[in-house]
Amino acid sequence: MYRYLTILFPLLVVLVSCSSRKAVNEPPVEKGVSKSLAVYRKAVLTDIHYHLDLDIPAEKIKPILAHEVLSFNLSSTRLGLQVDFKEDPSKISSLVINGHQIESNYQQEHLILPAAYLVKGKNELQIEFTAGDAALNRNPDYLYTLFVPDRARTAFPCFDQPDLKAVYTLSLKLPKSWKAIANGELKDSVITGGNKTYHFKTSDLLSTYHFAFAAGNFQLYTGLVGAKTTEFLYRETDQAKLAPSLPAIFSIHSAALSYYENWTGIPYPFQKFGFVAIPDFQFGGMEHPGAIQYKASSLFLDAGATKDQLNSRNNLIAHETAHMWFGDMVTMDWFSDVWMKEVFANFMADKSAENAGGTEGYALKFLIDHFPAAYAVDRTTGANPIRQPLDNLKDAGSLYGNIIYHKAPVMMQQLENLMGKTAFQQGIREYLAKYARSNASWPDLIQILDKHTPANLKQWNKIWVNESGRPLISYQITYQDQKINHFELIQKAEYGTQRVWPQTFELTLFYPSSVKVIKVNLNAEKTQVKEAVGMAKPVFILFNSAGDGYGQWPVDAALPQHLFAMEKPLHRATAYISLYEQMLSGKITPAAMLSSFGGALSKEQEELNIKLLTGYISTIYWQFIIPAKRIQLSATLEKQIWGALLQQQSSNNKKQLFKAYQDIFTSAVARNRLYQVWKSQQAPAGISLSEDDYTSLAFSLAVRDDADQSILMVQDTRITNTDRKKRFEFIMPAVSSDQRKRDQFFKELKSPANRQKESNVLAALYYLHHPLRQSSSLRYLKESLGMLEEIKSTGDIFFPQSWLQASFGLYQSKQAAAIVRNFLETNPGYNPRLKAKILQNTDNLMRAEKLVQ
Ligand SMILES: [Zn+2]
Repeated sequence: MYRYLTILFPLLVVLVSCSSRKAVNEPPVEKGVSKSLAVYRKAVLTDIHYHLDLDIPAEKIKPILAHEVLSFNLSSTRLGLQVDFKEDPSKISSLVINGHQIESNYQQEHLILPAAYLVKGKNELQIEFTAGDAALNRNPDYLYTLFVPDRARTAFPCFDQPDLKAVYTLSLKLPKSWKAIANGELKDSVITGGNKTYHFKTSDLLSTYHFAFAAGNFQLYTGLVGAKTTEFLYRETDQAKLAPSLPAIFSIHSAALSYYENWTGIPYPFQKFGFVAIPDFQFGGMEHPGAIQYKASSLFLDAGATKDQLNSRNNLIAHETAHMWFGDMVTMDWFSDVWMKEVFANFMADKSAENAGGTEGYALKFLIDHFPAAYAVDRTTGANPIRQPLDNLKDAGSLYGNIIYHKAPVMMQQLENLMGKTAFQQGIREYLAKYARSNASWPDLIQILDKHTPANLKQWNKIWVNESGRPLISYQITYQDQKINHFELIQKAEYGTQRVWPQTFELTLFYPSSVKVIKVNLNAEKTQVKEAVGMAKPVFILFNSAGDGYGQWPVDAALPQHLFAMEKPLHRATAYISLYEQMLSGKITPAAMLSSFGGALSKEQEELNIKLLTGYISTIYWQFIIPAKRIQLSATLEKQIWGALLQQQSSNNKKQLFKAYQDIFTSAVARNRLYQVWKSQQAPAGISLSEDDYTSLAFSLAVRDDADQSILMVQDTRITNTDRKKRFEFIMPAVSSDQRKRDQFFKELKSPANRQKESNVLAALYYLHHPLRQSSSLRYLKESLGMLEEIKSTGDIFFPQSWLQASFGLYQSKQAAAIVRNFLETNPGYNPRLKAKILQNTDNLMRAEKLVQ
């Protein structure tokens, strides 16, 4: 054993403090990865190569011993060099720099290499250490890395910033029965005793957050993606899911890959394609080249899957595959531009879906996927702009959210409209070719796009990318002799200073037997619709009929009674969204909206629209109707939903309605009906229910304090897959009718170890805070806010926002609102990014105070 002393190097400190004229070059030693440290290292480091050998034992509590050789070229030896390692420094057992064994000087999450031992040109660092477990996601018989955005530094010493791309030569010593996947191709595997060592070929150039591997008891399936032999690791055991899913997963990847190769003009840019399905993965997917990770339940679907589930899987695969070009091959300089990789992945995924599914279906899917989710944040006082500054990578997780995943694709579509499809594609191709295997920022891209369009991208960029919010659009129309003689649109900021969102959109005038479509360029505070002047007075007008305009759109008073005079599903979808937004702004009562949407269920045939409507119905019912009135309304609503279920022909539509019924039911009739379905495992005619569906039905019955206390126990015995069983047993106490068990569950969440499986925690929180349980769960809210900072520092990127959503998402009471206000008042200096997340996720709660009746 080797014992370590932490010695400060006075020489280094003096150098740093006395040569202030070169301040820009001298990054302070502080926690995380500061922008100044990143800029300095980018200026002096090149040719980085990590050799990592990890010895991974079967038992998850045993340490992972590691050996690392880190070589790099250095252009200046004036200063010491900070290597990131966010772990206990006692985990480093030996440190050799350029042949010199040195004591480790550890400060503020960095190993500091003294300048005296560094040389200009090639340097080599050899480190013996115990790998940090924080981002290794260790389970009893498998593990996987997840290093985005800055968590590689929790596992091994590295330069953890996206613009220091490096190559990786990895070996993994594993229990013999395990399988493994990494970024590079497998070179060989060697068996010694009870172990198997996988040696991987040196990877392509990767940012640290793309370096990845997964290992454990997985099944291996080998198929073709395009012409590439591709390995897929998974743990699913249900043949009803495996049989239809395995070929589908490969064909979706193949279609996406070939679409992007054609669209970008660049062949797949990495040595290897491969992916792994992880049970209860904390994201939908993560785009590590050669080793994409997916949430297993999103990939494996059985024959009863709804169109919505199939669409989500297509989207997810197309999204991660698009990242191979957007994000992986060309990577942002710094995480302030993380939105760029996400917007392109989403936007390109939508394009590939358009290619596969046709324009009309594409516009509807684009509208429903992105607009409601973007509005959910952008209408709140916590809304953030698409592009946000970032001083230190340790805060990068707070940049993620609906704005970058959903508003940014809307913005990108508007940009494509503005430039024209061909010019837009040419610009993007030029950008990809110029920055391939390197890094680029948003200004780099805008500079290229600017050359391809006469439009003023600067002004456009300022409002769409650098500012938050959306416009409220209203109109004035007058008629003379049954003809339009004046038609004006007015655009106002929903909050903040007055500004204009330049955009194009469409409006449609409906006549008894015809329609008139008008394209409008909305680029000023007031816009005259000159084209409409002289046209006959329509029965009603639909604003934003193409579904690509962004904002709160007006609704013609005559529209609600003519919803089904509109034949196009896209038209009805845009009307539903506008109506809901009008309700949130107080112009329509929640009860009236509920009745209107409930009535539409038997007539609406489009599955995506039924999904949209049932989602809105659920939110209105639980958040904007008081409990006493809910009981009155639910009789009608149950009848509307069940009646629609019987009337609908398509099994997918029926299934959506069955889910909606299960969500809102309160009556004894409904309870008995659903209990029989669960008990006999006999789905209603025309519907196919899977094990997951029966599991969620068991939870829905149990959370209503069903008289049959054995429901959860019986359901537990029905589940055979070990990963799903664990998930179920984790959630069970949160659904228990015994309040002590629920209190105990919440108490245990205070320990980070019990929050490790984030997707399971979120599912449990939904039941813990279910509206029917809120009188006893209100007491958890204050602490849930108090835990947020810790959750940010220990959890993965989406967790703080999902934690808030799952905890506060269904409250409506004044007491709940008071807890939030009180928390913000008593913490005036609270982290502004987290405060914004609180405001975003409690916006409906605050609105409920005004709207609830
Ligand atoms: Zn992504």
